[in-house]
Amino acid sequence: MNFFQYRGSELCAEEVPLSRIADQVGTPCYVYSLATLRRHYRVFDDAFGAVPHLVCYSVKANSNLAVLRAFAREGSGFDIVSGGELHRVLAAGADPRKIVFSGIGKTRDEMAYALREGILQFNVESAAELDALDDAAREAGRKAPVALRVNPDVDPKTHPYISTGMKKSKFGIDIRRALEEYERARTLSHLEVVGVDCHIGSQLTDVAPFRDALSRVRGLVLDLRARGFDVRHLDFGGGLGITYDEETPPEPRDYAAALLGDGLDKLGVKLLLEPGRVIVGNAGILLTRVLYRKDTETKKFVIVDGAMNDLIRPALYGAYQEIEPVKRSGRAAAVVDVVGPVCESGDFLAKDRELPETLPGELLAVRSAGAYGFVMSSNYNSRPRAAEVLVDGAAYHVVRARETLDDLVRGETIPETLR
Ligand SMILES: *Cc1c(COP(=O)(O)O)cnc(C)c1O
Repeated sequence: MNFFQYRGSELCAEEVPLSRIADQVGTPCYVYSLATLRRHYRVFDDAFGAVPHLVCYSVKANSNLAVLRAFAREGSGFDIVSGGELHRVLAAGADPRKIVFSGIGKTRDEMAYALREGILQFNVESAAELDALDDAAREAGRKAPVALRVNPDVDPKTHPYISTGMKKSKFGIDIRRALEEYERARTLSHLEVVGVDCHIGSQLTDVAPFRDALSRVRGLVLDLRARGFDVRHLDFGGGLGITYDEETPPEPRDYAAALLGDGLDKLGVKLLLEPGRVIVGNAGILLTRVLYRKDTETKKFVIVDGAMNDLIRPALYGAYQEIEPVKRSGRAAAVVDVVGPVCESGDFLAKDRELPETLPGELLAVRSAGAYGFVMSSNYNSRPRAAEVLVDGAAYHVVRARETLDDLVRGETIPETLR
């Protein structure tokens, strides 16, 4: 459930008509609903209320400071994948003791930064990284709390680009080699083994792959215990999907019930969860204005001011994003491609989509754009990145200013010899 709804013929974010935001802030522009962000966080957190757990919101899904602050206020932890994300969550007021650090390519500097801040856990993804972290911790005069991210070899049945827990994937350590690496970790003097981690993919719409992964990881926890490891955390990653089109993903409570029902509640671990998309995905839209219409012999194009540099999911994954007119007109529908101004044929927001006829100057809302939207945006074609707006009841706040033309060339210099 989300708070983007029509009031009469006007699509609103909570109590604010989207047309007002477009007129005052300009387009393209991301709009997030604070009530939706909070609701999604609470529903997810409550679903695991029966067991000791910590929700570590996956920052990469949407890393705007205001969004991070809203979650920090809810008591959320954070799952980060870079030093940049660590900087962001600290700036947003995160408790370092609630931060887990994932990713296969942590640099020494990033490790040192996270060690200095005293984060909760490093999710280590290779033997080489284990050695590097031990080294970094020695240098920092600390012990690094470690979980190994294991690859349970489960097919999450999602898009190949966001499948991460299969044997051929670059992520994690083969679960069959995990014991060996845990034994080695225990001999490294500046590491402290605290848990087990896995994350099998994103946009999963079925609980079966989660359950398969869990049963394998659970087996590993028991094996480790038998060898005297003090396994305190089971980090089960993120990946729960949302409805973009006609998917029917499990509700958080069904997801939680499936996991807990499989004996997780009796494992005696603190459960860490790293949801991203399920919390923020449907809490945001991309607001865009129609520039032109162009009918060719075979196609009708609606050319809008938002493009693949603003929202790359359709171009990158062939992803479906619902599109709705901001003002219902009652006009007849036609099948159109909604495309942006970028000079690539892959620059589309929708293909062969039935939409009510829209005229230049009118607004469209691209739904489900709160996750992997702005964060994946770029300056391709020298397009300033869009503004981000957070709606709170009847008020709204610009939480990231639209980039300016000067922003586009900031940091670039022309060498003396070319002057
Ligand atoms: C991307 C990612 C997540 C979040 O995935 P969602 O599908 O957005 O829930 C969680 N953990 C790790 C390690 C990730 O890479």
